[in-house]
Amino acid sequence: MEYRSTRGAAPILDFEQATLCGLAQDGGLYVPASWPVMNTDAIRDLQGRPYSEIALCILGLFTGDRVAEPDLGSLIRQAYAGFHHDAIAPIRQLDDRLFLMELFHGPTLAFKDLALQVLGRLFQHFLEKGDRTCTILGATSGDTGSAAIAGVRGLDSVELFMLHPHGRVSDVQRRQMTTVLDGNIHNIAIDGTFDDCQNLVKTLFNDPEFRSRHALTAVNSINWARIASQVVYYFRAALVLGAPDREISFSVPTGNFGNVLAGYVAKKLGLPVHKLIIGSNENDILTRFFETGHMQQQIVRTTLSPSMDIGISSNFERYLFELLDHDADHLSRMMSEFSRTGQFQVGPDLLKKARSDFSAYRFDDDQVRKDILSTYRTTGEIVDPHSMIGVSAARREAHDGVPVVILGTAHPAKFPDAIRDALDIEIGLPDHVAGLLSMTERCTRLGNDPGQLKRFIDDRQD
Ligand SMILES: *Cc1c(COP(=O)(O)O)cnc(C)c1O
Repeated sequence: MEYRSTRGAAPILDFEQATLCGLAQDGGLYVPASWPVMNTDAIRDLQGRPYSEIALCILGLFTGDRVAEPDLGSLIRQAYAGFHHDAIAPIRQLDDRLFLMELFHGPTLAFKDLALQVLGRLFQHFLEKGDRTCTILGATSGDTGSAAIAGVRGLDSVELFMLHPHGRVSDVQRRQMTTVLDGNIHNIAIDGTFDDCQNLVKTLFNDPEFRSRHALTAVNSINWARIASQVVYYFRAALVLGAPDREISFSVPTGNFGNVLAGYVAKKLGLPVHKLIIGSNENDILTRFFETGHMQQQIVRTTLSPSMDIGISSNFERYLFELLDHDADHLSRMMSEFSRTGQFQVGPDLLKKARSDFSAYRFDDDQVRKDILSTYRTTGEIVDPHSMIGVSAARREAHDGVPVVILGTAHPAKFPDAIRDALDIEIGLPDHVAGLLSMTERCTRLGNDPGQLKRFIDDRQD
């Protein structure tokens, strides 16, 4: 399997290289050079199989010959061994057509674990084989950092430096990072905002000498291996509900377009996906695009669903590449317009095509609180503010007889303030993470200064 950049000016890579490099040299995102396709019989063969076997089949399509099948199998089993539910991603029925898939039974209680537990082990596999090491550098406003740390803790070949804005992440989110005391994990609290953290990361990545000396890499949601790992749960849910002999729709709370893109990939592979429904919070760049064909960046606002508080949906570039029939030159022109002016527009034909795959709805915090309450009253389920946006979007979509699976992206206990606001209920952490609140923390506080950060990283590596 070969991977090429959406902007067409970076080298063609195999799965191993694409995984380790993350972002392409030309600023684009790596995508498979052609889509593997599963026929109906191959999909039917997966019915009744456990999550890990479906994962082996789907991930195998993307890894090609870069990971031997027995290695991939054991890597997947290890990745999901730490999950606190045998089904990995159990599905609960909400009413006669809505189903909630719980993607929050991993170590950090959010859906990012499903991909990052695999990604960490892929890194280890590739690096060990070549007797190499790398340094992962990232910035987080909450969920991504803890899931990345949980994915690579204790690995010999990877050092991870994770920046978060001092005093600006929730207690639980901070502790999920800072109580991990493995020697290869380095938490850094920056005196500044999340944007300051991201700018520091960018500055270090833009220093070629520093970058190559430490073999710097990223594990953010533009990494193809993350998307590939997310395709698995679309298959699993659809199979449980009767695919390939029945169409299924999905409703996905998304900001970066990462999670819902995996649903589009599942459809490309042959899964009978009817509609992909997008739920946005007030940071609604995606919803506005699907209404008007106009992609326009706006100031980011803080909402009850912080993991969707984004200004740009980076993974949309991969879908745009599909919309433009893989015309990398056209795409590059649009993306450079976007980085210059903060906007681009697609014509009516492309918008029509996009709308046949996706629909999109937006919800403000007041609506989310109301919907959490009404859902609790009618179903007894306590739904976190992110997943709630998925449920509400599914309800907004016209009833067409097709079952809808909503992607439940976080455990409600991760957002106790929002739940207290909406329901007047105190929700406790599940037993397996309750110890968090009394565990020792380790974290270094640094100023908003690239020089300090570079010295800190230099000092911790030979
Ligand atoms: C990261 C995250 C999202 C958004 O994921 P995308 O990559 O933007 O699709 C939604 N909900 C939760 C809980 C998250 O952590």
